[in-house]
Amino acid sequence: MDYRYLGHSGLKISEITYGNWLTHGSQVENDVATECVHAALDAGITTFDTADVYANGAAEEVLGKALAGQRRESLEIFTKVYFPVGPAGPNDTGLSRKHIMEGIDNSLRRLQTDYVDLYQAHRFDVETPLEETIAAFADVVRAGKALYIGVSEWPADKLRAGQELARQAGFSIVSNQPQYSALWRVIEGEVVPASRELGISQIVWSPMAQGVLSGKYLPGQAAPAGSRATDDKGGAKTIKSLLNDDLLTRVQNLKPIADELGLKMSQLAIAWVLQNDNVAAALVGASRPEQIAENVQAGGVKIPDDAMAKISDTLGDSAVTDP
Ligand code: NDP
Repeated sequence: MDYRYLGHSGLKISEITYGNWLTHGSQVENDVATECVHAALDAGITTFDTADVYANGAAEEVLGKALAGQRRESLEIFTKVYFPVGPAGPNDTGLSRKHIMEGIDNSLRRLQTDYVDLYQAHRFDVETPLEETIAAFADVVRAGKALYIGVSEWPADKLRAGQELARQAGFSIVSNQPQYSALWRVIEGEVVPASRELGISQIVWSPMAQGVLSGKYLPGQAAPAGSRATDDKGGAKTIKSLLNDDLLTRVQNLKPIADELGLKMSQLAIAWVLQNDNVAAALVGASRPEQIAENVQAGGVKIPDDAMAKISDTLGDSAVTDP
């Protein structure tokens, strides 16, 4: 496993990171979740990403239990704040001082840890003054409850404004967590160039387009049993827009490119996002330990330029650059 620096910080994270959206506390049983976490640790993954909102707090609890007893110094634990957990009162959403201060304590309790390594604003809050949000994050860091601060899905102008205020408040935003895959290339236009200037890395979610880029969904055929597309607890709904025959046919056409490089399609998809030097980590999900063993082999892979060009040509306008 290779480790990359997060933004302009001294924090190293595993370039393949395990995330537990839709799986822990939901699609998979707790014993399978624990097996996945242990498979990740065995494979050299040290960085784990969750959010308070995943499975209404249950994903943090499951991850906390699965990591209990591990040497804390050998782990980087990331979580997020913004969305309401459980019933939503007027102050349960967004990035107010109240929601951030309450949110961090609830997350630490569920995760069974005294601090998280990275605390992330899950979205930008257009209603709370940015000054209030940044001051609250500065206090969270000063209290030792989070070591670093990141954001998720912030556009370039908000990254600029947030970084300026953060530096005035004595810390830096080290990361942004956007969607990024060979099928979703939106950040390449503005977010990545701005982040390079600002010392912010991307930790990218759904690098495998929720499993679609693994090639297991075939055009005109039913989704394989046990896959996200058959998960009626929420997964089936989130993946639905990707399951159209044109897109699935183009994805199948990536197979010869993967074969030529000696890679599985899943590994090609993960390696693809890691070719971007502003990406600190591919945030990969897994519903089974065997997937993790397969996925980590994408680490350290160099995809030649001609193969990168072939991938772009093959996916054509199925790859979204401007939603
Ligand atoms: P991926 O694109 O990596 O999809 C993961 C899913 O694909 C797995 O759960 C599994 O689903 C399937 N899969 C994984 N490996 C393989 C394999 N080798 N072969 C075949 N299928 C495979 O990412 P996710 O969509 O899960 O997102 C990853 C993480 O990103 C989340 O856990 C979360 O931490 C973060 N995230 C952040 C968001 C944000 O707003 N900041 C939003 C969404 C996610 P199955 O087996 O069920 O088919």
